[in-house]
Amino acid sequence: MIIAVDGPAASGKGTIARALARHYGLPHLDTGLLYRAVAATLLDHGLDPEIEADAVASCDFDERLLADDRLKDDGVGKTASIVSAHPLVRASLLQRQKRFAAQPGGAVLDGRDIGTVIAPDAQAKLFVKATPMIRARRRHAELKGRGSNVSFDQVLADIRTRDERDSSRSQAPLKAAEDAVLLDTSFLSIDAAVERAVQIVERAVARHRL
Ligand code: C5P
Repeated sequence: MIIAVDGPAASGKGTIARALARHYGLPHLDTGLLYRAVAATLLDHGLDPEIEADAVASCDFDERLLADDRLKDDGVGKTASIVSAHPLVRASLLQRQKRFAAQPGGAVLDGRDIGTVIAPDAQAKLFVKATPMIRARRRHAELKGRGSNVSFDQVLADIRTRDERDSSRSQAPLKAAEDAVLLDTSFLSIDAAVERAVQIVERAVARHRL
């Protein structure tokens, strides 16, 4: 079974995808990490994220980077959003994600274009959302916990800019697949959101069996 979990930054999609992977005993891929690894490599080499050739040159990143906590930095996330808009960067990461989705037994993937591009045939598709204010509050708390002193207003502005950039790009924009089920986590605890997500998957699987 393939489970696709998409949604904007700090919507809760990563937490939900990890919980679903545990629940169903499936491998999980956070596809945002791939774009973050490209961004971190580009920054390390002093390259320009707006230049497609610079971003493409950074796609051949060191695999060990995927486990590096530095990928969670806000600056890396912002740069990831810029490099991910380049069609050649997306093309370069495409097969790796498709292969992960197609492995025997299935997988859970989370990102922006899993239900639309990477695994359009996924048995279950969730689009996780929450209001920008609530997502900014979550992200601000997370960054503060990691020692950052960024202001709430700055985090909110960054979230809005990232939403706009991710939704308006020509290639694989952030949008719900037509057959995705929306899950608004704005006023849900983590446990309640995960419970809802499991219900959505169960219903999708039952529909596929018909
Ligand atoms: O999900 P996360 O915040 O780690 O993603 C970082 C950036 O990578 C996003 O803002 C988005 O631009 C990009 N991304 C993407 N497609 C994906 C996953 C992430 O374009 N499947």
